[in-house]
Amino acid sequence: MSPGSAPPPDWQRDGFRHIWMPYSQMKTAALPLPVDSTSGVRIRLADGRELIDGIASWWSACHGFNHPHLVAAVERQLHAMPHVMFGGLNHEPALKLARRLAALLPGELNRVFFSDSGSVAVEVALKMAVQYWLNRGERGRNRFVCFRHGYHGDTLGAMSVTDPEGGMHAHFKGYLLEEYPAVIPEDETSVAELDAFIARHRERLAGVILEPLVQGAGGYRFHSAEAVAEIRRLCDAHDVLLIFDEIATGFGRTGTMFACEQADVIPDIITLGKGLTGGVVGLAATVATDAVFDAFWSDDPGHALMHGPTYMANPLACAAANASLDLFEREPRLEQARAMETRLAAALAPCRDLPHVVDVRAKGAVAVVQVDELRDLEWLRARFVDEGVWIRPFRDAIYLTPALVMSPEDLDTLAARLLDVTREWAERRRGS
Ligand SMILES: *Cc1c(COP(=O)(O)O)cnc(C)c1O
Repeated sequence: MSPGSAPPPDWQRDGFRHIWMPYSQMKTAALPLPVDSTSGVRIRLADGRELIDGIASWWSACHGFNHPHLVAAVERQLHAMPHVMFGGLNHEPALKLARRLAALLPGELNRVFFSDSGSVAVEVALKMAVQYWLNRGERGRNRFVCFRHGYHGDTLGAMSVTDPEGGMHAHFKGYLLEEYPAVIPEDETSVAELDAFIARHRERLAGVILEPLVQGAGGYRFHSAEAVAEIRRLCDAHDVLLIFDEIATGFGRTGTMFACEQADVIPDIITLGKGLTGGVVGLAATVATDAVFDAFWSDDPGHALMHGPTYMANPLACAAANASLDLFEREPRLEQARAMETRLAAALAPCRDLPHVVDVRAKGAVAVVQVDELRDLEWLRARFVDEGVWIRPFRDAIYLTPALVMSPEDLDTLAARLLDVTREWAERRRGS
């Protein structure tokens, strides 16, 4: 099935047999769309067609593509120093970014460790939590509580705290650590259950890891600020560390700079990625509180954090991230995200009446139409492309995470196409 009419460009025809695509059955998946360039909220294909990007390039391009302020910053940095190793060396883009992140983050989240992808930032957070207890002389505390529908990345440690029903775990049984998936506590019974669960395993627990308010790729589920606050309270009561994975929710996505602000809760460790550089270069960060960092501050070299990616704190990425933070300071991104919630909720409300639709929800710049079962996935994806929008349904969710700068007109187009194509999909299923 080829959604395009034009033949693939030479580079795709010649190169495709050498590429391995993510999350794809290479034998049966549709040929990927050849992209020529990006601009604003649009992806331009090799045959000249343009798609409105409904997912901001996996939640990352929060200011839209090719933003001139980000491009100029990276260009300047490229000439000064594209990269230099971070072991034994420092540079201004990284230290400036660390200082700015510490100032933006709530509470005492003051110590920034840079890495090159979100999954690695999660690995670092898990290692920090395990070693925190070890450095304090508490042995055997190296396990984690995580949550149903959670997603924390594709590397082994990150996978071990991702919902085991997500489909990836089965292949790696016996190799992956089996952590403790729990239910996010939304009522008294589940609070009591989580309380008992943590109490029972406390001697072995290093921490609890959660995507606050909005869970991403593990199911696009939302939960309340109260649940987040309950989890903080339980971690305090049982003295286990709380890690917030804000790789997806950070940088305005839920309507505040960080989702944890809405619950008025501060984690011990937070992970950031995706929107950090405005979608320009891969970069992630693991930020610890002063109290966590203090457990590593010692005359004993064995108490040091043993991690160091080759490209950590890449200057191009840090320059992009600093420029992205400039835009958050100068432009009304958070207001834009909050306005998007109202607009998308209204525009997508009619989806509720379609057969097979289970729920419609919006939080900040995240909107989800959840269905009972996503049959005909490839058909659905191709139909969206035919309609000029880049929407990629996944699991049981047809979701939007647009650039925060998307105009009301483009948002309305996106929502209207989502509604039309989902209606068509639902009718087709009834007919089959
Ligand atoms: C995307 C994501 C990750 C993994 O980040 P990568 O950069 O893809 O490795 C981890 N946690 C959450 C919540 C994410 O959304």
